[in-house]
Amino acid sequence: MNTANAYLTVAGINVDVVYKNIKNMHISVYPPIGRVRVAAPDRLDEDAIRLAVVQRLPWIKKQREQLQTAERQSQREMVTGESHYVWGQRLRLKLIDVAGRPHIDAVGSKLQLSVPPGMDDAHRRKLLESWYRKQIKVALPPLIEKWEAIIGLKVNAWTVRRMKTKWGSCNPDSASLWFNIELAKKHPGCLEYIVVHEMTHFRERTHNDRFVELMDKHLPNWRATRDELNGAPLAEEDWS
Ligand SMILES: [Zn+2]
Repeated sequence: MNTANAYLTVAGINVDVVYKNIKNMHISVYPPIGRVRVAAPDRLDEDAIRLAVVQRLPWIKKQREQLQTAERQSQREMVTGESHYVWGQRLRLKLIDVAGRPHIDAVGSKLQLSVPPGMDDAHRRKLLESWYRKQIKVALPPLIEKWEAIIGLKVNAWTVRRMKTKWGSCNPDSASLWFNIELAKKHPGCLEYIVVHEMTHFRERTHNDRFVELMDKHLPNWRATRDELNGAPLAEEDWS
């Protein structure tokens, strides 16, 4: 069985291709951000895969919309006892009434939200959001510094933002990086993987063989981390 992978970008969507000894192509969309993976018959032409993905774009977009709807519906109430993930660990939210400035502290298995009584859930969510952003802003500089030295290039600017369909992105021309704020909920290795992935794009813009070679050299375990970020498929479909 051929286990070689290809990484395509089709209509702005990143597609992982896994070649297998199968007859029909098989496409999967993975939560939480709608990652697309194609299992393709061995030796199938890359153009044929591209064409097939283009033909499935309406289906892919529908799956991604469903993911976003599900995310909105599962919006947290921000009440004591609720679970929230921080760097891959599940913490229990604990609301504490304070008169002063609202703040958040991770203490053991608790995520303590100290807020004035009566602060509504939307404000509590906003507070947690900026706390997550701060976690990444603290974690990023040493990681970027480390990989600047290893890869041998400079990052000019980086930003943490909410992104619907990507964990990270980059602009090699301006040496800029963007990180999904959701990475603060994942194991720290995930943030490092995105740092290395995006910085490797400064060398190779597409997910070509050379890109994969560099990733293997930098982070031999990157596939496991990628799979952790991609999770289990939301929806799958076969076509011939
Ligand atoms: Zn990429």
